[in-house]
Amino acid sequence: MAAIPGYLVPAKTITCTTTIPQFAENPKSTILQKCRSRRDLNQIHAHLIKTRLIFNPSLTENLLESAAIILPNALDYALSIFRKIEEPKSSAYNVIIRALTYQQSPDEALLLFKQMCASAVHPDEFTFSSVFKACSKFRGLVEGQQIHAHVVKRGLQSYGFVENTLIHMYAICSDIQVARMVFDGMPERDLVAWNAMLAGYAKNGCWEEIVSLFLKMLEMNVGFDEVTMITALTACGRVANLDLGEWIAQYIEANGLKGNTNLITSLLDMYAKCGQVDAARILFDQMKQKDVVAWSAMIYGYGQANRCYEALALFNEMQKANVDPNEVTMVSVLYSCGVLGALETGKWVHFYIKKKKLKLTVTLGTALIDFYAKCGLIDSAVEVFEKMTTKSIISWTAIIQGLASNGEGRRALEFFQLMQQAKVKPNDVTFIGVLSACSHVGLVEEGRTLFLSMNKDYGIEPRIEHYGCMVDILGRAGLLDEAFQFMKNMPLEPNVIVWRTLLASCRAHKNVPIGEESFRQIVQLEPAHSGDYILLSTIYALAGRSEDALKVRSQMREMGIKKSPGCSLIELQGVVHEFFSEDDEHSHSKEIYRATDDMIKRIKLAGYEPNMGDARIDAEEEARETSLSHHSEKLAIAFGLVNTKPGSTIRISKNLRICTDCHNAMKIISKVYNREVVIRDRNRFHHFRGGSCSCNDYW
Ligand code: ZN
Ligand code: ZN
Repeated sequence: MAAIPGYLVPAKTITCTTTIPQFAENPKSTILQKCRSRRDLNQIHAHLIKTRLIFNPSLTENLLESAAIILPNALDYALSIFRKIEEPKSSAYNVIIRALTYQQSPDEALLLFKQMCASAVHPDEFTFSSVFKACSKFRGLVEGQQIHAHVVKRGLQSYGFVENTLIHMYAICSDIQVARMVFDGMPERDLVAWNAMLAGYAKNGCWEEIVSLFLKMLEMNVGFDEVTMITALTACGRVANLDLGEWIAQYIEANGLKGNTNLITSLLDMYAKCGQVDAARILFDQMKQKDVVAWSAMIYGYGQANRCYEALALFNEMQKANVDPNEVTMVSVLYSCGVLGALETGKWVHFYIKKKKLKLTVTLGTALIDFYAKCGLIDSAVEVFEKMTTKSIISWTAIIQGLASNGEGRRALEFFQLMQQAKVKPNDVTFIGVLSACSHVGLVEEGRTLFLSMNKDYGIEPRIEHYGCMVDILGRAGLLDEAFQFMKNMPLEPNVIVWRTLLASCRAHKNVPIGEESFRQIVQLEPAHSGDYILLSTIYALAGRSEDALKVRSQMREMGIKKSPGCSLIELQGVVHEFFSEDDEHSHSKEIYRATDDMIKRIKLAGYEPNMGDARIDAEEEARETSLSHHSEKLAIAFGLVNTKPGSTIRISKNLRICTDCHNAMKIISKVYNREVVIRDRNRFHHFRGGSCSCNDYW
C-alpha cells in the first residue's frame, strides 16, 4: 500500500481511517463510530456530559476524532470540544493537528503544533508524522527543516512512518536530494519507504533515478507491489527503457495480474511512449474497461509514432464510446490534427474546451496555437495566444514559429519584441523561429543582428540548425557567395540539411557552380535523395543547360532512385482523405480522375500550360502529361472542389514540396473557381487567392 494515500494514485480521494487503541474497551465508544451527523454528535456529547464520562480522556478523544475526521464540516465543533479540555495530552493535539491537515488548513495545524510545544506538551512520533504532512501541504520547506531538527534531537527519527512522511515532505518541496539522504539513512526500509522515495522522484520528474532505484529493489530482493510497478512503468515510458518495461510486463503476465486495470493502463502507456504502439493496441483491445487514461495513452502513442491518421480514428471511437476527453487527450488530438491539417476535428476540440469552460492551461493553449498555425489559421492562433492568462516560453515560441511559417515574418519579429518586453528569456528554439521569420521575408540585416545577439546577449551557443537558418537567409536573398563563405567559416561541420538549403537557393537564383558543389557535398555525406537530383537538374534547365539537366535525370534513373511518392491530405466533414500520386486506392478513384481531368480542361482554357519539367521522367511521352495532372495535390483539390460548398476555403497538406506545375495550377484554380486554397507543403504554407500565392512564388 501507498505511504501517503491519495498521493501515489492521485485519482483517488484522500480517505483517512484512524484506529483508536482504547476503542474496543468501552462499548459506549462504538456509538461514536456510528455517529454520522452533527445531531448524533450533539446527542452523544450531551450524554457524555450528563454521565460525567466526558472526564474520561480516551472517550473525549474519540468524540474529537468523530467530530474532526469522520464528520465533514464539524471541525469547528471539534475545536470547541478541544478548547474545553483542561490539559490536553499529546494524543488530543494529534487528533486536531491531523484533522486540520486533512481538511485543508495545514497552516493552522502548524500553529497548533507551536502552541503544543509552548504548553510543554511533548509531541510524539504521531504528531511529527502529521506535522510533516502539513508542511508538505503548504510546501513549507523551512518549517519542515526546523521540525526535522527537532525530531533528530528527540531521537524519534527511527520511526519508519515518521521518515516516510519526511521523504514525502522533502520530495514535495523539491528538495529531492535531502529526501534521498533521509531514505539512505534509514536503518530499516519497508516497502512503504521505497514507494515513498519512488513517488518523490516521480513528483520531481527524476525518471532515470526511478529506474535505478527499482533495479536496486530487485537486486536487494525487497519485493514490490502494484504501486511500485505503476511508478516504474511510468518511468520506463519517459526514458524509453523498453527492456525493463517488458520485464515488468512478463512479471504481470506470470503472476496473473492482467485483470488489474491500473496496472494494464500503465503498461499500455509504457508501450505507447516507447514507440511500441502495436503492442499497446493489443492490450488496449483486450481491456474490458477503458478509462480516459487508456484512450489518451493510445492516442498519444499513435501521434508520436507519426500515425496521426489512426490517432484521429481512435479519437472518433472514443467519442462514440462516450468517454469524455481530458487535457492529455485534447493535447494529443490537437497534435495529430496539426500534422494532418485536420481543421474540423481540431476546431471541435477548441469548441469543446469553450463549451465545457475548461481552463486554458499553458499546455492546452500552446497545443491550440500550434494546431491553428499548422493549419494555416494564423489569426486564430494569435487569438488563442492573446486569451491565455499564463504564457510560457514554449507558448511564445509556438506563436513566433507559427507566424514565421505562415509567411508573416514581420509579425513574428513583433511578437519577439513583445516577448522581450514581457521579460521572457528566449531559448534556442525561439531563435530558430525568429531566424526563419527573417528568411521568409528576406530580412537579411535583422537576421545577422539576431544571429550575433544569440550568443552575445543571451549566452546561447548557435547549433547547426541556427547556422542553417543563416545560410537560408543569405541564400534566399541571393547572397550565395556570402552563404557559401559563411558555411566554410562555420565552427561546425555543415550537415546534409544545410547543403540542401544552399542547393535550393541555387535553384531560385540559377547559380550553377555553387549548386554543383552543394550537390557534390550532399552525395559525399549520404546517398542523395531524388529531390537533390531533381533540384540539380532544374538548376541546369533554368540556366539553359538542358543536356546536363537530362543527364542528371538519367543518372538518377540508372541509380534506381525513385521519387518518394507524393501524398496529400484533405479533410471533409471531420474525415481525412488521403491521396497518393496516380492513386487508385481511393474508394472513388474513377470519379476523382474524371473530376481532375475536367478541372485541368477548365484551367487550360484560362491559360494553364503543363510544365513538363515536373513530369515523371520514366513515363512515356503522352503519359507524362497525365502523370503530371495526377499529382496528389491535384487529385485532392479536384475532390475538394466537387465536395465542398462554392466559395469555401479548401485546405490541403502535402508531404513533399509542391512542384512548380502544381503551384501554377493552384494559382489559376483559385481564380477560375473563386476559391481560397491553402496548401501546407513540407516547408511552408501557400495561401492561394485570386490567381496569386502568399509566397510570391518563392518557396
Ligand atoms: Zn505537382
Ligand atoms: Zn506559394
